[in-house]
Amino acid sequence: MSFRISAKSEVLFGEGASHQTGKRTVAFGCSKVLCVYDKGVKDAGIVGPIVESMEKAALRVVHYGTVLPDPPDTMVDECGAIARKEKVDGIVGIGGGSTLDTAKAVNVLLTNPGPIRHYYAPTGVHKPGKPLVLIPTTSGTGSEITHVAVVSNTATKTKGGILGPAMVASLAIVDPLLTLGLPPHITAATGMDTFAHAIEGYTSVIKSAMSDILSEKAIELVFKYLPRAVKNGSDMEARTNMSFACLIAGMSFNDTMIHFGHAIGHCLGALHHIPHGVACAVAMPGVIDVVISVMPDKVRRVGELMGLTLAKGLKPAEVGAAVSERIVAFNKELGIPTLRELKVKEADLLPMARAATRDVGFFFVPRSMSTNDVLAIIQKAYAL
Ligand code: NAD
Repeated sequence: MSFRISAKSEVLFGEGASHQTGKRTVAFGCSKVLCVYDKGVKDAGIVGPIVESMEKAALRVVHYGTVLPDPPDTMVDECGAIARKEKVDGIVGIGGGSTLDTAKAVNVLLTNPGPIRHYYAPTGVHKPGKPLVLIPTTSGTGSEITHVAVVSNTATKTKGGILGPAMVASLAIVDPLLTLGLPPHITAATGMDTFAHAIEGYTSVIKSAMSDILSEKAIELVFKYLPRAVKNGSDMEARTNMSFACLIAGMSFNDTMIHFGHAIGHCLGALHHIPHGVACAVAMPGVIDVVISVMPDKVRRVGELMGLTLAKGLKPAEVGAAVSERIVAFNKELGIPTLRELKVKEADLLPMARAATRDVGFFFVPRSMSTNDVLAIIQKAYAL
């Protein structure tokens, strides 16, 4: 057995953990920080108390409160210029993946020359950044623990990853209380992003014994708690378990990478501006169709974790069909729209299949696939 665990961030997890933001950030030697967030998180009343905790700890706070979804490289450059001009010595990101990834990417620009597009993987290497505190307010991306930031390349209309030392949080503060106000549709979409990390981490070409444990637990928790969190946003037990599932699914895919679902998801995000979690959710039944021929036992296990009773004598294709159908039903139960409902046109499918084969996720698909194979799976999703 051999595997790698590269998650290095300290994690503070628990209800009310965000009250410690000020004193924990000062402990890194910071005196003036850039606080990064978006309008939705500010309007939800989440930013105020955390800024208060920082000011109480005598930190000076520079605000950047206009993060955009699928963060564009141009916005990251703008935010980086503010951070450099203000000579901040640390960054605190409060929000969903778009905000946490913006905070990470700006951390590159604090200690390295811009623009940020020079740092896309696999070529862009950078020096470490400043202390970085990440506080997730969705239970979806796992960005608080991963070593990647996803930034939209406005020139190529693609989403690309930035990897390296400035991406690694000095501290992740996971406070499930911050997710209580997340509206049902965002709870569902982000929760399915966690599910996608767990499934793809479990079946990636570089899966490991450690990622298996993390993914299995995350799959079980998402199936048990996501419907509860969507139905009743104040269900604290469900919210806490979704925050935990998100964290451990992030730890899983941090080393094993994502694959087919995210390759499709990135294209839907970049070309059609479909929210990341929704884009991944609609691709998930297809992931099962992709992996069933090479990992039938794992697909069976996913089915069991989703509560399916699968007779011993079933053929792999029958197991695959049952699990894939269960995910379709789960998406429906959560109110995730279909590709047609998302206004994707039939003519978009072939360009999407071609773009998916060029996405970084495609390198980790556990079997070889032609563009036509990819197209057939997207067409199946389109027929729903
Ligand atoms: P997001 O950050 O774009 O936020 C979605 C919406 O939710 C925003 O309008 C925001 O204001 C709102 N919101 C967030 N928290 C809230 C709360 N508690 N209450 C009310 N509203 C709230 O969405 P996301 O799905 O968290 O992040 C998606 C981005 O993360 C994509 O760009 C995706 O590519 C990236 N991503 C990164 C990683 C990584 O490891 N770095 C992994 C997966 C995805």
